Amino acid sequence: MKYIVIGNGIAGIQAAETIRKMDSEGSITVIGDETYSPYCRPMISLVLEGVLSPEKLAIRGEDFYEKLHIEPVLGNRVTHIDVADRQVIIDETSKGGRKTSFSFDKLLIASGADARPIKADGLNLKNIFYMRGQEHVLKMLEALTTAKSALVLGGGLVGFKAAYGLMKRGLEVTILIKSGYPLSMQADEPAGDLILKELVKHGLKVFVGAEVSSFEGDRQVTGAHLTDNSFIKCDMVVIGKGVLPSLSFVPRDQIKVDLGIMVDEHLETSSSEIYAAGDVAEYVDIARKTRWVNAIWPEAVNQGRLAGMNMAGRPVSLKGSLSRNVIRIFDVDVMTCGLVNPPADSDHQVISQINPRKSLYRKLVFKNDILVGMVMVNQIDQGGLFAALIQSEIPVRIPKESMLSSSFNYKQLI
Ligand SMILES: Cc1cc2nc3c(=O)[nH]c(=O)nc-3n(C[C@H](O)[C@H](O)[C@H](O)COP(=O)(O)OP(=O)(O)OC[C@H]3O[C@@H](n4cnc5c(N)ncnc54)[C@H](O)[C@@H]3O)c2cc1C
Repeated sequence: MKYIVIGNGIAGIQAAETIRKMDSEGSITVIGDETYSPYCRPMISLVLEGVLSPEKLAIRGEDFYEKLHIEPVLGNRVTHIDVADRQVIIDETSKGGRKTSFSFDKLLIASGADARPIKADGLNLKNIFYMRGQEHVLKMLEALTTAKSALVLGGGLVGFKAAYGLMKRGLEVTILIKSGYPLSMQADEPAGDLILKELVKHGLKVFVGAEVSSFEGDRQVTGAHLTDNSFIKCDMVVIGKGVLPSLSFVPRDQIKVDLGIMVDEHLETSSSEIYAAGDVAEYVDIARKTRWVNAIWPEAVNQGRLAGMNMAGRPVSLKGSLSRNVIRIFDVDVMTCGLVNPPADSDHQVISQINPRKSLYRKLVFKNDILVGMVMVNQIDQGGLFAALIQSEIPVRIPKESMLSSSFNYKQLI
């Protein structure tokens, strides 16, 4: 059996490891464009913050591929998949390179996501960074040796982690948020505001509602002109405006794509024996009951493992995907899971309590009697229990308000 895995992120690595555990004979090739040993992508923000050295990012040893008899083809980006001929192609002829083909019996697409690009003049100036991989953060560290001020674009998870890391490095940081409140994809407005207040308390400057139209600088960026005609001086820029599934090489006429690659419960795409997992894959969201791309680490781990099992011949089903996040910013802990901004209809019931003075907030979202979402700011101890309830879809039959109490205990559910 010939297995090919596109992508050497966590979904691809988990799949390759799982396949090897179940099939000691088959040939496994992992094609990935990053050349580092497998590493923990979310922790690159800790490297930026200065609390983790880049060497500590690795989650597998340098001998990972050799030990598992996996052929690594690294430093290369797949350009095409020939579904009919069962070939994966790296075509570098337009860059003066070679065209190489790899045949497969079973293929996993685990190419993750790319940082969402922005359009602005002067994007090629020095010290303007996207924040997606180890390479990006290593370049940022070089910039930190001289930079005194930074502009962060985007109020999502990556933008916030970047702003936090740069503030911890002592830079003067301005964040530019297009939508009304930060972390709008992960949290809701009250939680976003509590986080923002915490950052502002520590010196973060916030601009809401405008975007960058152009960057200024000679060779290196010195500032940004905004669409509202204002100008922000800065020595470096970090762009954290979300991600898009990385699937430009996927033939959409043969493999069904929505926002991500559409998979069934076995992580198989619309084309048989071709699977997808992780940030590139789209499956049904447990809380939303609709197709969704949940681009988070635990999903990529689980989906990679399940895809590997299915590819190696043991049918296992993914119940559904679920968004969940835990974020710590200065002294504020935030935990979110599932549907946090439900539609205003009679099926959904929202209960919440907030204490802005103590930065405490708790919100639970029910659909009929089933917990489908939660947001917690500080006192997040019961978050694991709530996440398990969302995942298991067990109806809650007790008075729901009792679950807002910080002393709530799982025994009350029985
Ligand atoms: C700064 C940052 C902070 C984050 N924080 C959190 C967090 O707190 N919690 C959380 O749950 N998640 C977090 N995430 C998201 C998490 O890192 C991802 O969900 C996870 O890494 C997805 O794994 P993956 O294997 O699907 O994709 P990836 O990790 O993106 O790996 C895909 C690999 O495939 C390669 N590739 C892409 N296209 C091709 C191609 N055509 N040919 C060959 N190789 C290709 C890519 O270069 C990459 O190496 C964070 C991400 C970032 C960037």
